[in-house]
Amino acid sequence: MEYAQHMADLPPSARPLTSAEILSVGTELTAGETRDTNAGELARALTVRGVRVHRLQALPDELPTVAGAFRVALDGADVVLSTGGLGPTPDDLTREAIAQVCGERPEVDPDLESWLRGLWARRGMPFPELNLKQAWLIPSATAIPNDNGTAPGWWVDRPDGRVLVALPGPPREMRPMWSDWVLPRLEARGLGQEIEIRTLRLTGIGESQVADLLGEPLLHGANPSVATYARSDAVDVRISAVAQPATDGRTARTAAEVADAAEAQVLDLLRDHVWARGETSWSAAVGERLMALGWRLATVELGTGGSLATLLGDADWLRRAESLPADHAAGEAGALERLAEAARDAAGCDVGVAVRAAPRGDDTAVSVVVASPERIHRERRLAFLGGAQGRSRAALTAAAVLLAELGRTMGDGSAENSRTVEEARR
Ligand code: AMP
Ligand code: MG
Repeated sequence: MEYAQHMADLPPSARPLTSAEILSVGTELTAGETRDTNAGELARALTVRGVRVHRLQALPDELPTVAGAFRVALDGADVVLSTGGLGPTPDDLTREAIAQVCGERPEVDPDLESWLRGLWARRGMPFPELNLKQAWLIPSATAIPNDNGTAPGWWVDRPDGRVLVALPGPPREMRPMWSDWVLPRLEARGLGQEIEIRTLRLTGIGESQVADLLGEPLLHGANPSVATYARSDAVDVRISAVAQPATDGRTARTAAEVADAAEAQVLDLLRDHVWARGETSWSAAVGERLMALGWRLATVELGTGGSLATLLGDADWLRRAESLPADHAAGEAGALERLAEAARDAAGCDVGVAVRAAPRGDDTAVSVVVASPERIHRERRLAFLGGAQGRSRAALTAAAVLLAELGRTMGDGSAENSRTVEEARR
């Protein structure tokens, strides 16, 4: 209550914008015909700037539903963003909904009208009067220019300092309006707070085991917030932290200090599983170590359908990638070692990797051989599930064994040296 009163007493433009809610308007979304990509993109852009995003919501083209959602959102969030529903047809009713919630009447804005009419005149076509709706504004709204379409957005300043922004649905219109016009203005108002986000990428361990090791207190804390995500190529541990003000008996800490402490805790428990940071891919991690060693790679795969080559992608350090049937040289002792060396030598490379995937029950038995100038290293693992899942996990296993072997050669062996790419702030 005290906080609410404090906010009410501030001049509107001084309200810090630290929370947001995102609405995606369009029956094509609620019917599942169009995927809502806008909300996720905007949520991410806000989150990395230290804005707490309360909720993302998709709504049908129904006035009471959309107006109701704006009303609730404006009750709880400093910034309400919507995309969609700004087309010229009667089913596009985001403008009507906002006007209703603000208690204002939309009127045709003369500048917008002449801009719109000009778009048609330029092509020598008659102006469809239906489109006049796209020239509407309410008194508290400012038009957001749209260089890629006919639907201007709306920036609405609420009397209590909250900001409502409506953008058109097509991503190629929405994106530049967001990044070139809306975001700089939100930032000028004081968007978000300093936030430190770190991601540790883990291999050779399942998400539940990671959660078990981290423990409830770490996973349920608000600051730092630590969460696990099972991705297709790794289990990620994401740490996000904001500055901690001084309290009784505790000194203030910056966001980076709070994140450092949490990261040290996570590394203590999981160091051996960390293979990268941030958004590093397997290909980038392997490529970086090969580059550091000045080495090039050849791969040969059996029974994986070329999954390892797909994972590593089109990199110039990958000189040769061969895919053979699962039963090639099956049962021959030392076959995988010979294949790894032969691939390496045939391509004139420094390292050869051979991987074989074979069904074992419902899972996949994976054998990996890495033939480097230093030694021949072999590992066997059981990958969870069979079929395509098992094949792609076999490729991940091969990449993990290769990466560790390259790390061993470089003499690090520790997770600290898998710091490949620092988290970028976008
Ligand atoms: P609009 O006329 O502004 O309601 O949006 C028109 C088109 O934009 C839709 O037909 C979709 O193709 C696209 N669109 C709308 N909303 C979204 C969204 N949330 N994510 C991705 N595309 C969208
Ligand atoms: Mg629509």
